[in-house]
Parts: sequence; C-alpha cells; structure tokens
Amino acid sequence: GPNPRIAVVTGGNKGIGFEVCRQLASHGVAVVLTARDEPRGAEAVEKLRALGLAQVIFHQLDVTDTSSIATLFVFLKTRFGKLDILMYSVNLQVNNAAIGGVEYLQELHANEEKFAGMDFDQMLEWMVKNVREPVDSAKKGVQTNYYGTKHVTEAVLPLLQSSSEGRIVNVSSLFGLLRLISNEEVRQELNDIDNLTEERLDELLDRFLRDFEADALEARGWPMGCSAYKVAKAAMNAYSRLLSRRHPALRVNCVHPGYVKTGITMNSGVLTPEEGARNVVKVALAPEGGPTGKFFAEDEEASF
Ligand code: NDP
Repeated sequence: GPNPRIAVVTGGNKGIGFEVCRQLASHGVAVVLTARDEPRGAEAVEKLRALGLAQVIFHQLDVTDTSSIATLFVFLKTRFGKLDILMYSVNLQVNNAAIGGVEYLQELHANEEKFAGMDFDQMLEWMVKNVREPVDSAKKGVQTNYYGTKHVTEAVLPLLQSSSEGRIVNVSSLFGLLRLISNEEVRQELNDIDNLTEERLDELLDRFLRDFEADALEARGWPMGCSAYKVAKAAMNAYSRLLSRRHPALRVNCVHPGYVKTGITMNSGVLTPEEGARNVVKVALAPEGGPTGKFFAEDEEASF
C-alpha cells in the first residue's frame, strides 16, 4: 500500500511522540517506539498494547549515544531488513525527541497559570525577555536536537532507501524559523540549500556555541530566549532540506506540531498532545508522491 508500514519514532515514551506512536499504530502501521529510558519506554508500549495496539514494539534509543543508535540499527536490520524489502523495510522515521533546555527554570513551572492563557507569540516574547539557558544546557540542546536527529537519520537512511518511498518526519518548531535569526549572514547560510553541507552546518553550530560562551549572542544576532533550541531546530530544518535534495526518492519534511501541553512546555500550550500529534501523523501518512523538503506549521505548509 502507499502508506508507511514500519515506523521508528524517537522519544516515544511521552508527550507528542507517544501520541504519534498511538495514532500510527491505530492506522495499521507497525511502530518501533523508542525511548532513552528502558522502563519508561516499556511502560509506554504496555499502555498501547492495553489499547489493543499489538503492532507496537519497544527498543531503547538515546539519540545522543552513538552505540545506542548502532544497536538500534542492528535490531532493525535483523528484525525487518531480511524480509521482503518493499513490505518490511523501515520506511518511516519520525524524529521527535528533543529537549527544551530551560528545565532549570523553575519559574516557568511556578507560573503555569500565567502561561495557560498565552498563545505561541506571547510565549515567544516572554521567553526572549526572560529565558537565558546556561551554556551546558545549550550544548546539550544542540547535541540532542540537531546532532541526535542527524545521527539517527544517518543510521536508518539505508533502510529508508530500500523502501519504495521512505519518509522522514522531523518534528520541528516555529522556534526554528529563519525569521527569528536577525543575523542576515546566518539566515542566508541556512537558507542557501544549493550550497549547504553538513560541514557548513557543523561550522555554524560551532560558531553559535563559541558566541554563546563569549556572551555575544545578542551582539551577533542569534535568536534570544531558548537560543540553542531555536538554532538547533533551524539547523535541523536546513538539514532536512539538504536531505530532501540529496535523496529525491525519499519524502523528508518538517512539522511544527502546534503549541502543545507537554513536558517541554511545562504543560503550557493550547493543544493536547493528541491534537499536536495529529499534525505530525498527517504528514507521515500523506499519500504517496507528496511534498518533500517542506515545512508544515500545524496542518498547513509554511515557509522555513
Ligand atoms: P516532551 O518533553 O513531552 O517529550 C520529549 C521526548 O523526547 C521525551 O520522550 C524525551 O524522553 C525525549 N528525549 C529527550 N532527549 C532524548 C534523547 N537524548 N534520546 C531520546 N529521547 C530523548 O515534549 P514534546 O512531546 O512536546 O516534544 C516532542 C517534539 O515536539 C520535540 O521535538 C519538540 O521540540 C517538538 N515541539 C513541541 C512543541 C510543544 O508545544 N510541545 C512545540 C514545537 C515543537 P524522556 O522522557 O526520557 O525525557
């Protein structure tokens, strides 16, 4: 059939990722729900099985751990790779796992009520004014949200390529939009897909972290407030576009799920995880021959 039959979802134990697993499985997709924490992941799978979704299996995956990625690849290849290529190869990769980098900010949680009525733009404005993540969080954010996504993608790429229409859905964010970056050079570099390479992205992220450590973010026109989260998502978006160019047989897209009540937003937000996941699943299960290299903001195509 036209739709993906075997999907791997990162960060599937809770929030939007969990709901993506549930909804994909409800559509008949065999889902490999991955999570960095074994007990949390296994518990999530049990919950789905209890709903009658027998086609969900668990595998550990910490996207920042190269040996964990390698182990997952061997598992996928052994479990699915030997069977009929068309039917059983992994053909959908949902890169959902991410961290916000503001976990330290207790104030966010304390002020949950204040955030409850805010829309996305108001939240964004509040963050620019108030949020400064420590440098360690910034590094972790870049490692998880950009490099984690990239390394997992590289590992599953051969499996996706053996499928008739392999797909990658990167769960992105409006926080990764180019317009949030006031440094025009950086913005152009990220938008110049013809000349973009992984090396250029590495170099850009190194520059960002150096400016971060030198306390020069604002002066250099990097986005403020959850800076690393924004820059990592922008880099992930650029990487998606690069991949879509390089592999025209694949469908590689980014989706902003909406402003969703989950751990990452300290349960602020306007959508339920179910509603946010629906936006992701819609792109994941789009009819064959659909768009690639695109950004979807909730359920509409938008510019990067
Ligand atoms: P949650 O915090 O609820 O979920 C994040 C998931 O990522 C968890 O399963 C978490 O696992 C996992 N994760 C974090 N680090 C790693 C790692 N190193 N390896 C594997 N898994 C990891 O947030 P959401 O559900 O909201 O986030 C899902 C996606 O949606 C993210 O990409 C986020 O950026 C994006 N998004 C969310 C928005 C929102 O409003 N909620 C808005 C825009 C984008 P663990 O439980 O172990 O921490």
